[in-house]
Amino acid sequence: MDKERKLIIAGNWKMNKTVAEGLDLVAGIKRELNSVKEVDIVVCPPFTALSEVSKAILDSNIRLGAQNMSEQNVGAFTGEICAGMLKEFSVRYVILGHSERRQYQRESDELINKKVLAAHAASIKPILCIGETLAERESGAMQNVLLTQVRGCVASLTREQMEETIIAYEPVWAIGTGKTATSQQAQEAHAYIRSLIAKFFDDATARRVRIQYGGSVKASNARELMGQPDVDGALVGGASLEERGFADIVKNSI
Ligand code: PEP
Repeated sequence: MDKERKLIIAGNWKMNKTVAEGLDLVAGIKRELNSVKEVDIVVCPPFTALSEVSKAILDSNIRLGAQNMSEQNVGAFTGEICAGMLKEFSVRYVILGHSERRQYQRESDELINKKVLAAHAASIKPILCIGETLAERESGAMQNVLLTQVRGCVASLTREQMEETIIAYEPVWAIGTGKTATSQQAQEAHAYIRSLIAKFFDDATARRVRIQYGGSVKASNARELMGQPDVDGALVGGASLEERGFADIVKNSI
């Protein structure tokens, strides 16, 4: 598949996998995907497995991501993890604003924006999640929701920082539900998001930003989704917990 932007496929393990289980999974992914050069491959284990997984993927084509971080750099913030701590484990990416955190931790666009800026300040690339709920889509509010989220979450970024930000379009109704957006629905939303980047930054920046699709991606739908002109990869939840499922998504995307 010949694309303007390099595909990026990331596995979000969420609150799954002990250290031993994570090492097993990543060993399998390495075995399956060691010759892949066409796709940026990222695994995002829980914080507790970052250290060991980081060592296990040294000298491989797999990069490390975290699932969240604090907007603060240091101090009395019990239970939080800052960018500097992630850097100790060579974390290159961080998922920010996932809909589960927006829902359960009440994360706002304003807070997510601070986290995005803190990640860039530490040279960690944010994977910024946005997406509408089913009620928002059905009431015709999808574009407005995406506009508000993009505007709020990328405020004050430089063009260079925007280019290094990966956006994950994840319709909330498709996450963990087995309901995938059709390739047309994904393409339409991605093209709209890219038009927003062009509006807030410029056309050249918009052309360079990678926009992942997330929501029940699996081996059987990866090829068609990745075949859309504005879909530049995937953020994968459930199917990233098993080496064969994740590897087949990557292979079918090439
Ligand atoms: C996610 O949570 O980011 C996700 C896309 O999950 P799933 O693939 O399980 O729908």
